[in-house]
Amino acid sequence: MLGIYGGTFNPVHYGHLRTAIEVSEIFALDELRLVPCSQPAHRDEPEVSAVMRVQMLQLAIQKTPQLQIDTRELERVGPSYMVDTLASIRAEIAVDRPLFLFIGTDAFNGLSRWYKWQDLFNYAHIVVMTRPTFKPETLVKFYADKLVNDKHSLKSCASGKIYFQQVTQLDISATFIRRIFAMQRNPSFLLPEAVIEYIQAKQLYTA
Ligand code: ATP
Repeated sequence: MLGIYGGTFNPVHYGHLRTAIEVSEIFALDELRLVPCSQPAHRDEPEVSAVMRVQMLQLAIQKTPQLQIDTRELERVGPSYMVDTLASIRAEIAVDRPLFLFIGTDAFNGLSRWYKWQDLFNYAHIVVMTRPTFKPETLVKFYADKLVNDKHSLKSCASGKIYFQQVTQLDISATFIRRIFAMQRNPSFLLPEAVIEYIQAKQLYTA
């Protein structure tokens, strides 16, 4: 089973990395790919280039073979739409191989604004990574029809379901980290030391 974890990763932090490891183990994935977006479709373009965001990801996971980086969104022009990414991955794998897209609850809350969001389910299952206290509001029918409560049933089909998985969510955001750097405060323990050193060497997020 293949998992996809998309994001801006501006910069990557332990909130991403801890949840990535957990879902990789919980779902016994063969592979979990972090997919950095080139040009986010739903927000301003990051001031740090996609190439640099990839370099930070490489530093972050260099000793974590469970995680890989898939840079296909950098090779496309125009906005990075997840539906295009999933379609291209699906075209490369067996039709019956389960594909999982992992998203946080903040991303789930905005999902209906994603380009062709309903088509995501043609290519993958969506797993929403939640906190133990998370109670999904009454799900709209579109989701309710796709909801499964037993994660093992996700393995019996290649795509089309939604599942809510509790994970250890660290209350860390890239926005907070950028602010820490801008204020010249100590970012230790929010993100890997190698990424901190890279940011400092390149003088990123200084303003
Ligand atoms: P920003 O603060 O710039 O909005 P971010 O920290 O939310 O960034 P993104 O790269 O935008 O990071 O997020 C990519 C994915 O990771 C999304 O699905 C998001 O829900 C999830 N995510 C981000 N931070 C966490 C966290 N602390 N715990 C679990 N999931 C997270």
